[in-house]
Amino acid sequence: MPTDLHLTGRLEPGVSIDDAIRLMSARYGPFDEKPRLEPAREVVFTILSQHTSDANSSRAFRRLMDRFGTLEAVALADVAQIEKAIIPGGLARVKAPRIKQVLNLVLELNGSLDLSFLQEMPLDEAKAWLRQLPGIGPKSAGIILCFSLGMPAMAIDTHIYRVCQRLGLIGSKVTADKAHDIMEAAVVPEQVFEFHVSFITHGRQVCKAQRPCCGECVVADGCPSRDQFVAQEGVPGSEAPVIADRRAATPTQLPHFPQAEGNTP
Ligand code: SF4
Repeated sequence: MPTDLHLTGRLEPGVSIDDAIRLMSARYGPFDEKPRLEPAREVVFTILSQHTSDANSSRAFRRLMDRFGTLEAVALADVAQIEKAIIPGGLARVKAPRIKQVLNLVLELNGSLDLSFLQEMPLDEAKAWLRQLPGIGPKSAGIILCFSLGMPAMAIDTHIYRVCQRLGLIGSKVTADKAHDIMEAAVVPEQVFEFHVSFITHGRQVCKAQRPCCGECVVADGCPSRDQFVAQEGVPGSEAPVIADRRAATPTQLPHFPQAEGNTP
């Protein structure tokens, strides 16, 4: 097997997690781990991101901060005012009271909205602290700790879950919660951020839910699911892989960070 895998995309049958991260990062990266939101803002942005697109949640977050200026002001605001500000994010009637409730609970528990103390906690304790907040489950807690505080917290979203299944890294009947445990054990802490960003980007851009572009896939040769999709008539790029050492034409938009205005038409 060639040593410089990203030049050829050739893999032995089956793909290791290390090779998958390396090949995807060569294709979509490098990933800038900064800038990040400070953790309380990441909490709010994560709530706004639930069940909507990056564009919608980014617009809602910008409107919220433009309207109130600080999260302390959001915590004091009427729910109706918050709801009005975050309408572009969808589910505003659910998310507005949740945001106010979460911010006030953080103030009650911590005395301020500064959550940087989480960084000093063991990972499991930091996750548990966040999960006491309404609407913050394992995935959201992982995202907040990983993307705001740089901690090696695993977060399996729908794209990562799908890619892991198709690559055979987890079984087809493994639940999302179990997948979280399996992948947390499989990925070394130093690679958790890179794993998350490369797999989510791959799932969004290439290994899409309905029509995976296997011909554009850097891990196609090691993917046990590829033949199944190649056999499906009409799957774009499902012919022979044309993998090359090329990076995305435009910089990869990092997940879990508000997009700039120009990227949210
Ligand atoms: S070969 Fe196809 S199914 Fe397999 S990871 Fe690549 S895009 Fe997904």
